[in-house]
Amino acid sequence: MSSVPRLGNERLVIATHNAGKLREMSALLAAHGVDCVSAGDLGLPEPEETGTTFIENALLKAHAAAKAANLPALADDSGLSVVALGGRPGVYTADWAERQWFEGDKGRDWYMAMGKVEGLLCEQGAEVDRSCWFTSVLAIAWPDGSEAVYEGRAMGSFTWPPRGKMGFGYDPAFIPEGFDRTFAELELSEKQAISHRADAFRKLVAEQFPG
Ligand code: IMP
Repeated sequence: MSSVPRLGNERLVIATHNAGKLREMSALLAAHGVDCVSAGDLGLPEPEETGTTFIENALLKAHAAAKAANLPALADDSGLSVVALGGRPGVYTADWAERQWFEGDKGRDWYMAMGKVEGLLCEQGAEVDRSCWFTSVLAIAWPDGSEAVYEGRAMGSFTWPPRGKMGFGYDPAFIPEGFDRTFAELELSEKQAISHRADAFRKLVAEQFPG
C-alpha cells in the first residue's frame, strides 16, 4: 500500500503569482510554522493552465514549481461555478476577466468578469437561481514527482451589484451561505473560517500535519 507523501522541514514554494491567493495561503500556513517562499520571489515562470479540471491545473502548477525550484511546492487552482450556468465559468474563472486593453498588453478586469456572469443570469429572468460555489484544489508536488491533492468548496449565491473592498477576484459578488455580506465585506479572518481554500486547507492539514 502506498503512503501519502508528507512535507518535511524543507522550504515550501507557494506556486502562485496571484497576490490574493498568496496572502490567504501564507496566512493559512503560518499557523503550522512552515517556511514559505513564493514563486514570484523565486522568479519562477507562470506555467500555462492547459488542464480542463481544477485538479489538472493545480497539479500542473505545483509540479512546474517543484521542478524549477527543486523544493516541494503548493499550488491552488480555483474558480466560481454557477448552478444556472451549468457550472460556468468553472476552470475558466480567471479567463472571463481577460481583456485586451490595447495591442500587446493584457490585464484582468474583475468587474467585467462579474458583469458577464450577471448578464447571463439576467437572460434567464428575474427568478433565476443565483446559487453558486467556489472550488479550491490545493496540490502539493515534490521534486521526485510525488503529489497530494485536497479539494474544498464554499457554497453561496451571486449578488449584484458587487459590494465590498476586501478580498480579490469575484469576492464582491459572492455571498457565502448563512451570511448577508459578500466575501469582500468580510475580514480576512472571517473569510478564512468558511472559504473554499480554508476547507481544502483543513483537509491538507489533517493529512500533512497530523497531531
Ligand atoms: P486560477 O486558479 O489561477 O485559474 O484563477 C482562479 C480565479 O478564480 C481567480 O483569479 C479569481 O478570480 C477566482 N477566485 C478563486 N478564489 C477566489 C476567492 O477566494 N475569491 C474570489 N475569487 C476567487
